[in-house]
Amino acid sequence: MTRVIEDEIRAVLIDLDDTLYPQSLFLEGAAQAVAERAHELGLNREDFTKTFRAVLARGSDTGHTIDTTLAELGCARDEVLRLTAPLVSAFLQYRPHSLTCYPRVPESLERLSRHAALVCLTDGQPDLQRAKFTLLGIEDYFRALLITDELGGRSLRKPATACLHRISEMLTIPVRNFFVIGDRLDKDVALARFGGIGVIRVRQGEYRDIPSPFDVETFDDFPSAVEHLIDTHF
Ligand SMILES: [Mg+2]
Repeated sequence: MTRVIEDEIRAVLIDLDDTLYPQSLFLEGAAQAVAERAHELGLNREDFTKTFRAVLARGSDTGHTIDTTLAELGCARDEVLRLTAPLVSAFLQYRPHSLTCYPRVPESLERLSRHAALVCLTDGQPDLQRAKFTLLGIEDYFRALLITDELGGRSLRKPATACLHRISEMLTIPVRNFFVIGDRLDKDVALARFGGIGVIRVRQGEYRDIPSPFDVETFDDFPSAVEHLIDTHF
Protein backbone atom coordinates (compact mmCIF):
# COMPACT_ATOMS: atom_id res chain seq x y z
CA MET A 1 0.00 0.00 0.00
CA THR A 2 1.30 3.44 -0.88
CA ARG A 3 1.26 5.97 1.89
CA VAL A 4 0.64 9.49 0.69
CA ILE A 5 2.99 11.87 2.44
CA GLU A 6 1.28 15.22 2.72
CA ASP A 7 3.28 18.39 2.43
CA GLU A 8 3.82 20.32 5.62
CA ILE A 9 1.33 23.16 6.07
CA ARG A 10 3.17 26.47 6.44
CA ALA A 11 0.47 28.91 5.39
CA VAL A 12 -3.30 28.83 5.75
CA LEU A 13 -5.35 30.94 3.34
CA ILE A 14 -8.62 31.92 4.96
CA ASP A 15 -11.65 33.33 3.18
CA LEU A 16 -13.41 36.37 4.69
CA ASP A 17 -17.14 36.65 3.83
CA ASP A 18 -19.26 33.94 5.47
CA THR A 19 -16.14 32.16 6.75
CA LEU A 20 -15.05 34.56 9.51
CA TYR A 21 -18.24 36.64 9.89
CA PRO A 22 -21.84 36.42 8.67
CA GLN A 23 -22.01 38.42 5.46
CA SER A 24 -25.80 38.70 5.79
CA LEU A 25 -25.27 41.31 8.54
CA PHE A 26 -23.29 43.46 6.16
CA LEU A 27 -25.65 42.95 3.21
CA GLU A 28 -28.72 43.88 5.23
CA GLY A 29 -27.14 47.20 6.25
CA ALA A 30 -25.99 47.84 2.68
CA ALA A 31 -29.47 47.05 1.34
CA GLN A 32 -30.96 49.63 3.70
CA ALA A 33 -28.42 52.25 2.64
CA VAL A 34 -29.18 51.61 -1.04
CA ALA A 35 -32.94 51.72 -0.38
CA GLU A 36 -32.48 55.07 1.35
CA ARG A 37 -30.69 56.44 -1.73
CA ALA A 38 -33.39 54.92 -3.98
CA HIS A 39 -36.00 56.77 -1.91
CA GLU A 40 -34.11 60.06 -2.38
CA LEU A 41 -34.14 59.38 -6.12
CA GLY A 42 -37.91 58.99 -6.15
CA LEU A 43 -38.46 55.25 -5.70
CA ASN A 44 -40.61 53.63 -3.04
CA ARG A 45 -38.28 52.60 -0.20
CA GLU A 46 -40.27 49.54 0.91
CA ASP A 47 -40.78 48.14 -2.59
CA PHE A 48 -37.12 48.65 -3.38
CA THR A 49 -35.94 46.98 -0.16
CA LYS A 50 -38.20 43.96 -0.65
CA THR A 51 -37.15 43.42 -4.27
CA PHE A 52 -33.46 44.07 -3.61
CA ARG A 53 -33.45 41.55 -0.74
CA ALA A 54 -35.06 38.97 -3.02
CA VAL A 55 -32.46 39.60 -5.75
CA LEU A 56 -29.59 39.37 -3.22
CA ALA A 57 -31.03 36.10 -1.89
CA ARG A 58 -30.62 34.58 -5.36
CA GLY A 59 -26.86 35.25 -5.18
CA SER A 60 -25.26 38.33 -3.73
CA ASP A 61 -22.08 38.25 -5.82
CA THR A 62 -23.55 37.48 -9.22
CA GLY A 63 -23.16 41.10 -10.34
CA HIS A 64 -25.93 43.34 -11.70
CA THR A 65 -28.01 43.00 -8.53
CA ILE A 66 -29.01 46.66 -8.58
CA ASP A 67 -30.00 46.97 -12.25
CA THR A 68 -31.84 43.64 -11.93
CA THR A 69 -33.75 45.05 -8.96
CA LEU A 70 -34.68 48.18 -10.93
CA ALA A 71 -35.83 46.10 -13.90
CA GLU A 72 -37.92 43.87 -11.63
CA LEU A 73 -39.52 46.97 -10.12
CA GLY A 74 -40.71 47.83 -13.62
CA CYS A 75 -38.32 50.74 -14.30
CA ALA A 76 -37.93 51.58 -17.97
CA ARG A 77 -34.53 51.02 -19.55
CA ASP A 78 -33.49 54.68 -19.41
CA GLU A 79 -34.53 54.84 -15.74
CA VAL A 80 -32.42 51.75 -15.01
CA LEU A 81 -29.47 53.44 -16.71
CA ARG A 82 -30.00 56.68 -14.80
CA LEU A 83 -30.44 55.11 -11.36
CA THR A 84 -27.92 52.27 -11.41
CA ALA A 85 -24.72 54.34 -10.96
CA PRO A 86 -25.85 56.32 -7.86
CA LEU A 87 -27.27 53.18 -6.25
CA VAL A 88 -24.14 51.12 -6.92
CA SER A 89 -22.17 53.97 -5.41
CA ALA A 90 -24.41 53.93 -2.28
CA PHE A 91 -23.76 50.19 -1.96
CA LEU A 92 -19.98 50.53 -2.30
CA GLN A 93 -19.80 53.49 0.07
CA TYR A 94 -21.83 51.82 2.81
CA ARG A 95 -19.76 51.07 5.92
CA PRO A 96 -21.31 49.55 9.03
CA HIS A 97 -20.34 51.06 12.41
CA SER A 98 -19.15 47.64 13.49
CA LEU A 99 -18.87 44.10 12.22
CA THR A 100 -18.58 41.02 14.41
CA CYS A 101 -16.93 37.67 13.74
CA TYR A 102 -18.77 34.40 14.19
CA PRO A 103 -18.36 33.08 17.77
CA ARG A 104 -14.85 32.04 18.91
CA VAL A 105 -13.24 33.08 15.60
CA PRO A 106 -10.59 35.44 17.06
CA GLU A 107 -9.43 32.75 19.53
CA SER A 108 -9.18 30.20 16.72
CA LEU A 109 -7.20 32.59 14.55
CA GLU A 110 -4.84 33.27 17.42
CA ARG A 111 -4.27 29.52 17.98
CA LEU A 112 -3.77 28.77 14.30
CA SER A 113 -1.41 31.71 13.83
CA ARG A 114 1.01 30.00 16.21
CA HIS A 115 1.37 27.11 13.72
CA ALA A 116 1.27 28.74 10.28
CA ALA A 117 1.31 32.08 8.48
CA LEU A 118 -2.28 33.20 7.97
CA VAL A 119 -3.41 35.07 4.88
CA CYS A 120 -6.92 36.40 4.47
CA LEU A 121 -7.85 35.73 0.84
CA THR A 122 -10.97 37.44 -0.45
CA ASP A 123 -12.68 38.55 -3.64
CA GLY A 124 -14.51 41.83 -3.95
CA GLN A 125 -14.25 45.59 -4.16
CA PRO A 126 -10.86 46.30 -2.52
CA ASP A 127 -11.79 49.31 -0.34
CA LEU A 128 -14.86 47.51 0.92
CA GLN A 129 -13.09 44.23 1.69
CA ARG A 130 -10.29 46.11 3.46
CA ALA A 131 -12.84 48.05 5.55
CA LYS A 132 -14.61 44.82 6.58
CA PHE A 133 -11.29 43.23 7.57
CA THR A 134 -10.39 46.26 9.70
CA LEU A 135 -13.84 46.45 11.33
CA LEU A 136 -13.59 42.81 12.40
CA GLY A 137 -10.44 43.65 14.41
CA ILE A 138 -8.55 40.52 13.32
CA GLU A 139 -5.61 42.10 11.48
CA ASP A 140 -3.05 41.12 14.10
CA TYR A 141 -3.51 37.40 13.41
CA PHE A 142 -2.73 37.70 9.71
CA ARG A 143 0.51 38.13 7.82
CA ALA A 144 -1.40 39.62 4.90
CA LEU A 145 -4.75 40.43 3.35
CA LEU A 146 -4.92 39.56 -0.33
CA ILE A 147 -7.83 40.90 -2.37
CA THR A 148 -7.93 39.11 -5.70
CA ASP A 149 -9.53 42.07 -7.50
CA GLU A 150 -6.29 43.99 -6.91
CA LEU A 151 -4.37 41.39 -8.91
CA GLY A 152 -6.23 42.15 -12.11
CA GLY A 153 -9.94 42.58 -11.65
CA ARG A 154 -12.82 40.14 -11.42
CA SER A 155 -11.24 37.64 -13.79
CA LEU A 156 -8.62 36.82 -11.14
CA ARG A 157 -11.15 36.11 -8.42
CA LYS A 158 -11.10 32.65 -6.85
CA PRO A 159 -10.81 29.96 -8.17
CA ALA A 160 -8.21 31.57 -10.50
CA THR A 161 -4.85 30.42 -9.14
CA ALA A 162 -2.93 33.67 -9.75
CA CYS A 163 -3.52 34.55 -6.08
CA LEU A 164 -1.69 31.41 -4.94
CA HIS A 165 1.43 32.38 -6.85
CA ARG A 166 1.26 35.95 -5.58
CA ILE A 167 0.97 34.78 -1.96
CA SER A 168 3.80 32.32 -2.54
CA GLU A 169 6.03 35.21 -3.65
CA MET A 170 4.92 37.40 -0.73
CA LEU A 171 5.58 34.76 1.92
CA THR A 172 8.39 32.91 0.13
CA ILE A 173 6.53 29.70 0.85
CA PRO A 174 5.80 27.20 -1.95
CA VAL A 175 2.15 26.75 -2.95
CA ARG A 176 2.34 23.05 -2.00
CA ASN A 177 2.71 24.13 1.65
CA PHE A 178 -0.58 26.07 1.60
CA PHE A 179 -3.93 25.01 3.00
CA VAL A 180 -7.32 26.69 2.39
CA ILE A 181 -10.33 27.25 4.65
CA GLY A 182 -13.49 28.76 3.18
CA ASP A 183 -17.23 28.43 2.70
CA ARG A 184 -17.64 28.25 -1.07
CA LEU A 185 -17.30 25.08 -3.11
CA ASP A 186 -17.04 27.03 -6.39
CA LYS A 187 -14.39 29.41 -5.04
CA ASP A 188 -12.40 28.21 -2.02
CA VAL A 189 -12.64 24.46 -2.57
CA ALA A 190 -12.17 24.80 -6.34
CA LEU A 191 -9.11 27.03 -5.79
CA ALA A 192 -7.52 24.42 -3.51
CA ARG A 193 -8.26 21.67 -6.03
CA PHE A 194 -6.74 23.66 -8.91
CA GLY A 195 -3.71 24.42 -6.74
CA GLY A 196 -3.33 20.81 -5.60
CA ILE A 197 -3.52 21.73 -1.91
CA GLY A 198 -5.65 20.75 1.07
CA VAL A 199 -8.91 22.44 1.99
CA ILE A 200 -11.62 22.45 4.62
CA ARG A 201 -15.04 23.84 3.86
CA VAL A 202 -17.04 25.55 6.58
CA ARG A 203 -20.74 25.21 5.92
CA GLN A 204 -21.99 28.65 6.91
CA GLY A 205 -23.75 31.65 5.43
CA GLU A 206 -25.41 32.17 2.09
CA TYR A 207 -24.25 28.88 0.55
CA ARG A 208 -24.58 26.58 3.57
CA ASP A 209 -27.50 24.64 2.07
CA ILE A 210 -25.36 23.40 -0.81
CA PRO A 211 -24.16 19.96 0.27
CA SER A 212 -20.45 19.15 0.11
CA PRO A 213 -19.33 16.34 -2.20
CA PHE A 214 -18.31 13.26 -0.18
CA ASP A 215 -14.60 13.96 -0.61
CA VAL A 216 -14.62 17.51 0.74
CA GLU A 217 -13.80 17.74 4.43
CA THR A 218 -16.54 19.92 5.92
CA PHE A 219 -17.24 21.45 9.32
CA ASP A 220 -20.17 23.49 10.60
CA ASP A 221 -18.05 26.39 11.81
CA PHE A 222 -14.57 27.89 11.60
CA PRO A 223 -13.39 27.00 15.15
CA SER A 224 -14.19 23.30 14.54
CA ALA A 225 -12.28 23.40 11.26
CA VAL A 226 -9.26 24.96 12.97
CA GLU A 227 -9.36 22.49 15.85
CA HIS A 228 -9.37 19.60 13.37
CA LEU A 229 -6.56 21.12 11.31
CA ILE A 230 -4.37 21.61 14.40
CA ASP A 231 -5.10 18.10 15.72
CA THR A 232 -4.32 16.41 12.42
CA HIS A 233 -1.48 18.50 10.96
CA PHE A 234 0.53 20.24 13.66
MG1 LIG B 1 -16.90 33.31 1.50
